[in-house]
Amino acid sequence: MTSRNRPTIGFIGLGIMGRPMARNLLRAGYGLVVHDVVRPAVDELAAEGAVAAGSPREAAAACDVLVTMLPDSPEVEAVYLGDHGALAAARPGWLAIDMSSIAPRVARELAGRAGAAGAEMLDAPVSGGEPGAIAGSLSIMVGGSAAALERARPILEALGKTIVHVGPAGSGQVVKACNQVVVAVVIEAVSEALVLGAKAGVDPARIVEVLQGGLASTKMLELRGANMLGGRYDPGFRTRLHLKDLKNALELARETGVVLPATAEVEQLMQRMAIAGRGEHDHSGLITVLEELAGFRVCDAAAAAARSPE
Ligand code: NAD
Repeated sequence: MTSRNRPTIGFIGLGIMGRPMARNLLRAGYGLVVHDVVRPAVDELAAEGAVAAGSPREAAAACDVLVTMLPDSPEVEAVYLGDHGALAAARPGWLAIDMSSIAPRVARELAGRAGAAGAEMLDAPVSGGEPGAIAGSLSIMVGGSAAALERARPILEALGKTIVHVGPAGSGQVVKACNQVVVAVVIEAVSEALVLGAKAGVDPARIVEVLQGGLASTKMLELRGANMLGGRYDPGFRTRLHLKDLKNALELARETGVVLPATAEVEQLMQRMAIAGRGEHDHSGLITVLEELAGFRVCDAAAAAARSPE
């Protein structure tokens, strides 16, 4: 335990989301031990007061509560179960919080393994993106025991504003899959609307402006409308990660006996982006696939309208 009886926190996965989240824990006054396979990310946090750990096991042994923010199930399994994995240091009283978005079945399995070592584990994926991670305003969906969540709550409150216990182990990942289904289908709908309206001759910036005042308004256009109008797709949220989320959602649908026709279609369109070498682009770049199908670029129409306003 660090001073003021606060737990020491381990943090593994210092990417787009993990770096600002780790920074918020430092700002909240927690002692922090960090690890990532990318050394500069570790050095950056170490320069701000965190202690660097050489492996997941070392980070886990040095902390009371471990937070992970990794890309997908294989990386989470490697960090917890691999050589020098975190669960090798699990012990009674130790708590792991995996905030990555992964398959619910893997979250349930890891929680079982942590429990077998006398430790506890929560799955606590997030929504709110990089801006939410920076602002500490994420929406956090938590699966696991209510008692473990009460221990984790002060830590999660440094990271997010909405913290909801959604059920036992794996339930957080189920809700995250639901979240990603909605976001994917909304991006696709917005992309269809902008390609249709712009190719039919209307300034797409006007379309965005008026849609945002009515029933069709969406956080997606608020946060990503500028990407789509400007043709710039720096992540944000990498398409390959959203594709992974949709694969997890479709796997869950198969396991559960549910049909997700729109999700399956958007998964294929994102697959097209990845095949075209655009998997690292922000997921709002999905509009480029609709543009290719229509033979028309919304960003060109937006630029032309800006050059010669009526
Ligand atoms: P990212 O790719 O930017 O970061 C992942 C980090 O994990 C990287 O720094 C990488 O080096 C590290 N890493 C990978 N394998 C590792 C290993 N074996 N050991 C240690 N470190 C390892 O991804 P991100 O955008 O920060 O997303 C992280 C998770 O959060 C993903 O599951 C994603 O789906 C989810 N998420 C992302 C967003 C977003 O807007 N970016 C929003 C909500 C949820």
